[in-house]
Amino acid sequence: MKKTILIVEDEDILREIIKDYFINEGHEVLEAADGKDALLLFRENEVHLIILDIMLPELDGWTVCRRIRQTSNVPIIMLTARIDEDDTLLGFELGADDYVTKPYSPPILIARAKRLLDSRYRKKEAFDHHLSIGGISVHYPSRTVTVDGENVKLTYTEFEILTYLMQNQGIVITREQLIVKIWGYEYVGDDRTVNTHIRNLRSKLNDKSKLIKTIVRTGYKFEDNE
Ligand code: CA
Repeated sequence: MKKTILIVEDEDILREIIKDYFINEGHEVLEAADGKDALLLFRENEVHLIILDIMLPELDGWTVCRRIRQTSNVPIIMLTARIDEDDTLLGFELGADDYVTKPYSPPILIARAKRLLDSRYRKKEAFDHHLSIGGISVHYPSRTVTVDGENVKLTYTEFEILTYLMQNQGIVITREQLIVKIWGYEYVGDDRTVNTHIRNLRSKLNDKSKLIKTIVRTGYKFEDNE
């Protein structure tokens, strides 16, 4: 599955290392050393995944992420310089799908990227194209969600969480299960990451947010009681 990966990183050596890994995986790589170039390359090419550093010349990673999200749901992995909770949460609020803390191991970054690419671009079987419960409808091939017939725009990760909960209707899903399902076993983030995505997801579902129930100290359950 050859994909185009846009690597946005101003440190040449780091960018080269990541680039080599992705090329070895059989992907095409585009490189940008600043935020402006990143946006330009993104507009001019069909990009399937973005590796985005935060500290960049011209425009920082936050701004790049925000601008891209205005028009696209392309998976974005952010690179944060240190373990900074605020950075991570801000990244998710802006619509990043995952983050990796520097210094990171390239194989871990590749594994995360692979997981996002697989779940995003894998072909779905015809029989599970569509799911509808309690006024929320999901169409997998187009990744569209409607609430009482109105379109709702979800980020990639919010869509994955919602569909996973809906597919397991009536069953308690732990935060760990969600993390493994969406980011994989090698994930090192904590529960607050999941909480933030759930909060954002609920705010987009309006009245229907009550279908996602919080199970104290455990996780979440999708349930339609009506
Ligand atoms: Ca940097």
